[in-house]
Amino acid sequence: MAFMSVMCNCAGCNRPITCHPELVPSLVIDGKREPICIACVHRWNELHPEAEPFIPHRDAYEGQEVEG
Ligand SMILES: [Zn+2]
Repeated sequence: MAFMSVMCNCAGCNRPITCHPELVPSLVIDGKREPICIACVHRWNELHPEAEPFIPHRDAYEGQEVEG
């Protein structure tokens, strides 16, 4: 399966993650999309119940098996 992924650092916790740049949930910081890891996605959703929740695409993170 063709799968484009990149190494980057999570904008929330600064951990290195491997993610799909088009699919990964991200925050916009200084006009730039900054990817966040799955843990920060869940934390964001918990901290901001009033906001639209992030729902990660099943291919957003490499190495995570998600049944689709
Ligand atoms: Zn994170």
